[in-house]
Amino acid sequence: MEQIQVTTQCPHCGGAVIQVANGKTDEAIAVCKNCGVSFGRWADVEERARHFVIEDARRQFLRTVKSCRRKLK
Ligand SMILES: [Zn+2]
Repeated sequence: MEQIQVTTQCPHCGGAVIQVANGKTDEAIAVCKNCGVSFGRWADVEERARHFVIEDARRQFLRTVKSCRRKLK
């Protein structure tokens, strides 16, 4: 069992540690270490996690831009 720390959270229990059976291949099934709920194929989970990180960075960027604008007024 390999453990991978990802920035996405388990929608079931909020756990952030995802375990992948049979090594980190695209076809491996990812499960939550905390509650054991299945997230599906590792490739899909990784894709979601990457998307989540991008979205989060974008939101943070927009927040920063907004607060800068407020200061300028
Ligand atoms: Zn969980």
